[in-house]
Amino acid sequence: MIRKTLIAMSLVAVTTSATLAQNGSLGQAAAEGLGSLTLSDEQVAEYSRQAVVQMDAQNPIAGPNDPYTQRLNRIVSRHRTIDGVPINYKVYMVKDVNAFATADGSVRVMKGLMDIMTDQELLAVMGHEIGHVINHDTRDAMKAALRRSAFRNLLASRSGAVGNVARSQLGTLADGLFGAKFSRQQETEADDYSYGFLKRNGYNVLTLATSFEKLAKLSGGSGGGRVAELVSSHPDSQRRAQRVRDRARQEGIR
Ligand SMILES: [Zn+2]
Repeated sequence: MIRKTLIAMSLVAVTTSATLAQNGSLGQAAAEGLGSLTLSDEQVAEYSRQAVVQMDAQNPIAGPNDPYTQRLNRIVSRHRTIDGVPINYKVYMVKDVNAFATADGSVRVMKGLMDIMTDQELLAVMGHEIGHVINHDTRDAMKAALRRSAFRNLLASRSGAVGNVARSQLGTLADGLFGAKFSRQQETEADDYSYGFLKRNGYNVLTLATSFEKLAKLSGGSGGGRVAELVSSHPDSQRRAQRVRDRARQEGIR
């Protein structure tokens, strides 16, 4: 009950705070978003784009002649546009076993993931991430992160720690990408999207199952890198792999 009251008070304070509005466009828009409880899809896509720009600036990106870039380009050459969404791809040369896709059609694949997956398994994983985009899960996660940010900005402005506001914006956008906790249903639907994507394009749908099985092994022990989204929110990789195998068998695919 106390918590509810606090949030209700905060909502009022955010909408009337002029200080917040001066703390940069993100803080301002986030505050406005919290006030009206809506953010337009265009706004969210713009924040997603900003988030990717930040992430790109903070991570070592494989150059155009790097073997990892060349391999990824070869794998995705037929998939520069998916379901009408133009996709841009980059490799981060980090050990994390991870990939993400954002509402603006950016896909980022970590070296650590490329090292353990076959070409088709990579497509299966990317298909899953793109499924989250097509199903608007990533957009909704970014919206939620922006609302959390408005709340944090409010706390920071109250404590007079203005410097924290700018810093928190960074956290917000990363939060929108990596802090996303999708529901089991969202995960299942993203799996189904990937399955359909693989099938439509003549790939082996069972690579979706084998990619999950590799991730399931990883979630048992940590290799040191982060495995956000792919594993942390997918503790049931083994069950999902079985689901893919069951569907494939029903469809006569072996
Ligand atoms: Zn997912």
